[in-house]
Amino acid sequence: MSNELEQLRENLDGVNNELLKLINQRAETVQKIGEVKEKQSINRYDPVRERKMLNELTEKNDGPFENSTIEHIFKEIFKASLELQEDDHRKALLVSRKKKPDDTIINIKGEEIGNGGVQHVMGPCSVESYEQVEQVAESVKRNGIKLLRGGAFKPRSSPYDFQGLGIEGLEILKQAADQHDLAVVSEIVNPQHVEKALDYVDVIQIGARNMQNFELLKAVGETNKPVLLKRGMSATISEFVNAAEYIMSRGNGDIILCERGIRTYEKATRNTLDISSVPILKQETHLPVMVDVTHSTGRRDLLLPAAKAAVAIGADGIMAEVHPDPAVALSDAAQQMDIPTFDNFMKELDEFAPRPAVQK
Ligand code: PEP
Ligand code: MN
Repeated sequence: MSNELEQLRENLDGVNNELLKLINQRAETVQKIGEVKEKQSINRYDPVRERKMLNELTEKNDGPFENSTIEHIFKEIFKASLELQEDDHRKALLVSRKKKPDDTIINIKGEEIGNGGVQHVMGPCSVESYEQVEQVAESVKRNGIKLLRGGAFKPRSSPYDFQGLGIEGLEILKQAADQHDLAVVSEIVNPQHVEKALDYVDVIQIGARNMQNFELLKAVGETNKPVLLKRGMSATISEFVNAAEYIMSRGNGDIILCERGIRTYEKATRNTLDISSVPILKQETHLPVMVDVTHSTGRRDLLLPAAKAAVAIGADGIMAEVHPDPAVALSDAAQQMDIPTFDNFMKELDEFAPRPAVQK
């Protein structure tokens, strides 16, 4: 009796081994099919073909398994093969850490972003006048920050809101930045403006509303200016990573990813800061990751705690908005910091996350 059991178990082990070999053999064939499909730009997932394979299997099935069980088992095998191909695909992404294990460090006018320290991007939401930007630029410089932001082309949710000063805004930004030896970060919304903007900006910002504006991504990918790419307000991390891939696949690898909060049902904050995206993006890509605390929280009282959380979790820098008189700002009046508040914000953030290069 026990001999019979042993014999049956031995048979089963043999079948398991055969199944294992066959499943892996099948996976290898699926991978080869994937390569052929990739060359022909055909989608790897083919539900019609899957249905045909399942029908052929159930037609041949004479038990003891029910057809539904056979379908379930094979569906799992199909799914695993597809996932295997997706893994291969992720591995192949230019922005992925699997492709390039070392951190990408971006040099912007002598300032290294992504070198393990923290570098911040500060400035007004919108460029309104030279005096306004210059006052902020002075405080940015005084706080040992190199990157000055300011919106000249504003993608506003309402067509009746202030749309920005356009090229004139870029001129103002550059003038104020030059005055204080700062670098300019500004958003471009139209692929046709990219070339002109190169004369004024040191970093091209792609805003949340344009994260999947693929023509714009391609256009900035063809420049050699660093790009600060913001996460779309309803974009998954995978979509965000793919947007960066669009830029890098055109030849421009100097990309800073910026988490700026996503839209959820929560109303207490303007957006929901997806803080865990920071370590995920750091693990999955080799790009620097910043966190915009202004647009994610939309609340002045949350800027500092959110910034501390961001650096604690591994962000390479913080973006926040500063205005000499936020109450009269033409955009985002509720959440910009005035200059004394900004000075205090930096003091507290520096105590929490010291910047060795900044002597205070
Ligand atoms: C901005 O940074 O000026 C801005 C408009 O932010 P977002 O694109 O993240 O909404
Ligand atoms: Mn703003």
